[in-house]
Amino acid sequence: MAREKNCTHPKGIEYVKYVGGYELSDGGFHATFSCRCPDCFAEIPLTCSGSKEYVEKFHAEIKAKKLLDF
Ligand SMILES: [Zn+2]
Repeated sequence: MAREKNCTHPKGIEYVKYVGGYELSDGGFHATFSCRCPDCFAEIPLTCSGSKEYVEKFHAEIKAKKLLDF
């Protein structure tokens, strides 16, 4: 079963969904993704900013990888 409070998320996080994003004044893009700890299920927001291509690539990568190391 899920561990609680004492979890420090050592094993990475799980991608859940794309939350939203907005264009930056310099032409870049800032996106927020929802992730969670696979152990305690705490929600961990993950942000990424850069060129639109970079953010799309990042999104595709975390979607495919599912479990991310930090
Ligand atoms: Zn955790």
